[in-house]
Amino acid sequence: MTTSENQLRRKIIKTASALQSTGLTHGTSGNVSVRHKDGLLITPSGIAYADLSIEKLVFMDLSGGYYGDYLPSSEWRMHLDIYRRYPDAQAVVHCHSPRATALSTHNKGIPAFHYMVAVAGGDEIKCADYATFGTKALSEAMIAALGDRRACLLAHHGQITYGPSLEKAFGLAGEVEALADQYLSALVLGEPAPLSPTEMKEILRKFKSYGKQLDALEDDDAGAFEMPERRD
Ligand code: 13P
Ligand code: ZN
Repeated sequence: MTTSENQLRRKIIKTASALQSTGLTHGTSGNVSVRHKDGLLITPSGIAYADLSIEKLVFMDLSGGYYGDYLPSSEWRMHLDIYRRYPDAQAVVHCHSPRATALSTHNKGIPAFHYMVAVAGGDEIKCADYATFGTKALSEAMIAALGDRRACLLAHHGQITYGPSLEKAFGLAGEVEALADQYLSALVLGEPAPLSPTEMKEILRKFKSYGKQLDALEDDDAGAFEMPERRD
């Protein structure tokens, strides 16, 4: 194993363990993967986060074959299908975070009740139809719910996210959980009015520039934010 693969495996374990320590998942639920070489590195099935070690992570090729002595996560198909379908996907995080899971038990996604819903890349976060865990049917339902977004809920199950890095995919899972929490609180007073499609389009435009500092701004970013005057 090369030093860089060794480091990558450690990073996967750190992120997977953080799912549990931050309360985004419990027990052995949830799984994490990263695109690697011509396939992916994924957490093994049913092994407690505290017992993970770099040798227990599983390499899979993109046709669904696995290597080594450990079985890959039972949700390997969802991970694989994301890498196959979305070229920009570099990491996938699945978890049973409490508030997103609570919403998913009502087959309810997260509408544009708050502008941050755009963090997943669209004007809502859908909930995939129910299918048994670890099945092709679940993966197909997930792909349908993801569409051109990077996160969805999974009915009676949890949530899944992907991103251009492990940090981003993990961060997005936290955002989805926070939004689910806020949405559930808002529902106490009835269904909140959604932001309009025009407003959400504007938010999505701003999100393309959000977080960029001066050295990274491009022509396309002009006008996305009201800039104060720069003084010498
Ligand atoms: P694995 O332990 O097989 O990854 O399964 C956990 C899970 O969340 C199934 O949906
Ligand atoms: Zn699960």
